[in-house]
This record gives sequence, C-alpha cells and structure tokens, in this order.
Amino acid sequence: MKKIDLMVNAPHFYTMEGDGVGYKTGVSMAVDGGKIIDILGAEEAKSAYLAEETLNLGHHAIFPGFIDAHIHTSCNIMRGLAQDTGYWMMYGLQPFDNAVNEEERDAGSKVAYIEAIRAGTTTFGDFDSEMDNVCSFIEKIGVRGHIAQTIRAAKRRVYKPGELYEFDDVMGEASLKRNLELYDKWNNKDGGRIKILFGPQGADFVSTEMLLKIQKIAKERKTKIHMHTQQGDRETYQIEKRYGERPTAFLEKLGFLDDTLIAVHLTDCTDEEAAVIAKHGASMILCPGSIGIIDGVVPPSVAFQNAGGFCALGSDQAPGNNCHNIINEMKNVALYNKIKYKDPEVMPAWRALRMATIEGAKAIGLGDTVGSLEVGKQADFIAVDLSYPSMQPVYTYPMRNIVPNLVYSARGQEVCLAVVDGKIVMKDGKVLAINEEEYIRAVDKYPEEIGKRSAAEFFSINGTNAQFMKENKL
Ligand SMILES: [Zn+2]
Repeated sequence: MKKIDLMVNAPHFYTMEGDGVGYKTGVSMAVDGGKIIDILGAEEAKSAYLAEETLNLGHHAIFPGFIDAHIHTSCNIMRGLAQDTGYWMMYGLQPFDNAVNEEERDAGSKVAYIEAIRAGTTTFGDFDSEMDNVCSFIEKIGVRGHIAQTIRAAKRRVYKPGELYEFDDVMGEASLKRNLELYDKWNNKDGGRIKILFGPQGADFVSTEMLLKIQKIAKERKTKIHMHTQQGDRETYQIEKRYGERPTAFLEKLGFLDDTLIAVHLTDCTDEEAAVIAKHGASMILCPGSIGIIDGVVPPSVAFQNAGGFCALGSDQAPGNNCHNIINEMKNVALYNKIKYKDPEVMPAWRALRMATIEGAKAIGLGDTVGSLEVGKQADFIAVDLSYPSMQPVYTYPMRNIVPNLVYSARGQEVCLAVVDGKIVMKDGKVLAINEEEYIRAVDKYPEEIGKRSAAEFFSINGTNAQFMKENKL
C-alpha cells in the first residue's frame, strides 16, 4: 500500500478531460505532494493507497477550482458605486477612484478574495498598481495567483474630449521597473503557486517603444502579458488618432498578437478583429458581467473561440459588476450569448464551465498545471454540495443535470470546499488560514471617510448615480 497525503471520495467527478466535462463516477482521486497522482476505481483505491487524510464527500460533485482570469480586487472597496451609468470611468468611478487610498484598497482586496474563494475561485488573475501586499495575502491564504502590475505612461489627469493622452516616459519606466521588482520577488514563489505577468494597462496608455520593450522582457522571462485590448471606443479613438489604425490592426503590425499576449475584454472588437487576434495565437479573457454593466456590450468571445482561440472568464471589478463570483460569470456568458445570437444552443452550460476551468487555464498559460483533474496536474479542486435546494433534485439518468444546475442555478454557497496544491484553503464557507470576520469587519470603517472625500466631485460631475441619489432611487 502506497502512503499518500489525501484521498477524495465522491459520487461525481467532473474532470474536464477531453472535449466535454470528463464525467466520472465510482472513482476516487489520490493526491500526494500537491499533485493528483491517480484517479481510480473507488474499491481499488482502498487497497492501493493509505491516505493520511480522506475526504468522504457523499453528496457532492468535484470540479477543478475555478479560474478568475481578470480581477481588480483593489477596486472592491468601491463596490456598487459606479454601475448603471454611461461613461462609467468618468461619470461613475472617477470621484471614488480619486478618493480612495492604498490602505483602503488593500482592505477591500482581501474581502474580494474571501468572496471569490467561497464561490469556488482558486486561481486569481489579479491586476493593479500595488500588488506586493496582494502577493503576501495570496501566500498566506494558499490560493493560486497569476498577478500583473499596471504599467502606464499616460498621465493621470482629466482629459478633454478628443484630447490625446500625454505620455510621461519617466512614469512609464518607473511602473515597468516596479513590475520587474514584483517579478523578481514573487514569480514562482510557493512551489510555483504565484506567477507574475506584465501588465501594460492598454496599448493606448504606453508608447509603442514601451510596448515592445515589455514584450521583450516578458518573452525573456517566459511569462505573459496581461493587457486590456481594444477595451472600448476611448481606446480605439486614442489609437486611431495616434497611429491611424484601429487597435487590433495596430497591434497586429507591431507583432504583439502572439501567444505571449492575454488580451482582456475586446469590447470594441468586431468579430473579424477578434478572429485576427485568435489566429495570431493570443488568448482572450471575457468579463461578461462587468462589460455588460459598464458598457452594455457582449464582447465577441464566440467569434474568438470559433477562430480557434482560448477564452477565460473574469469578474473584473466590483464598482460595476458588482461581484467576484465565477458561477455568476458562467451564467452570464451563456445567457448573454443566447440573447445576442437569439440562439439557445450557441453557448451551453458545459462550454461556460470549460471557460471557467480547462479552457480558462489554457488561455492564461496554466493549461499544463490546473483546469482539469488529471494525473500529474496540481490538485486544485472544489466540492459542490448537491444537497442545496438550488442543486436539487439530482438526475443522472437519462441525463445528468448537475452542470446545468451549477451554471444556471447555483449562487456560490453550494461550494463547500476549495483545495489548492492538495491543501484545503476553504471549508464550509470559511477561508481557513485567516479569521475572515476580522477582514470583513475591517472595511466597515472606510465608507464614511471615502464618502466625505468623494462627495464634492461626485455631485459636481452630477452623473447618473448622483441624480439617482437626489431622486431617491438609491
Ligand atoms: Zn480590467
């Protein structure tokens, strides 16, 4: 009998192997040294392995941990402050974004992690300008980090309509240097659980020279570039005015659309442009809830996938999504595309589940590490409790309804266990390494002060939400 760390027994395993969901029943999963070492018949497992710990999950389904490939956890302190408005960034976010400080962002970020883990996210594609504390928190709570730091040369000031961003190359270089320092400090930390990527904010926010420099640096380090790409008409305007071409054509000529690039949003891309990006080997991250709420757009992920590209899901940001819950994003991507194409078959539940797991892992360069339950991969998995009313009743014949109910009915609390590298990080709704309540209560003290600091700008801009306040609609 071979001694191992962990044996997982459950009636339903969704391994995500192959082209579908890789369903297996009557099996157990053996985990040792943080990796999946065997998936074998449950009876056979009893005689083959002696496990230090056994998880008997009698009314549960096991899935790979979800991947939230694009998330700005530092915006969480502004949750719910910018939705339902045109010009989201200027009319919605700006008064608050200008008012919050790093301490407040950091406190909000931790609550976003707690929220997301409870709903089954185990890999975080977090992206912002201060990521050192985020890496420390990831190290502490034991999840998987795929972290980029914002690189930006465009000066942060109010620009008049039609005005080109003013580049400050000293500021751009300083932000690149900080991304490099983050890489040197954190990349491959904790047995490879933390990876550092490079994060130009967008092709409109840095010079061409800097884009190419970042690309060279990322390639030398065999990591990736995580970049907002053709993310809206503001970006398209800036790139067209500066270079005479739309962003996709500009990036194509620059040689930027290869497999080093993870392109986020593609909000303003046509289907044809999305296909160009996919064919050059870049991957896509789709944030359906966020882009739906802040732009009223369903980005062309289906065209991207039809052209052979891999697409991951992201929850993006809480001032206008307003949650970090990949189950919600699975439902969003399926539902929005059915409506967009007036076709209930265009995006079935199993496709959405693949985007949250194996396809998402491939999209962000972790396809050999996580995203499916296969021998040799890291043991990142979650258990969904099927006894919740939202998952009941369970059918297995003539069809299984577990995946459709996970995508269309579950809300997140059904996820009762999350494991990363074979270690339990969340059990029964609690992130184990920390006292969650302490972190959740810690944000209580901030809204009053942030509110005072942002009020003058909020009312002077007089955006949609300022009017809603005056009209007693909030
Ligand atoms: Zn973003």
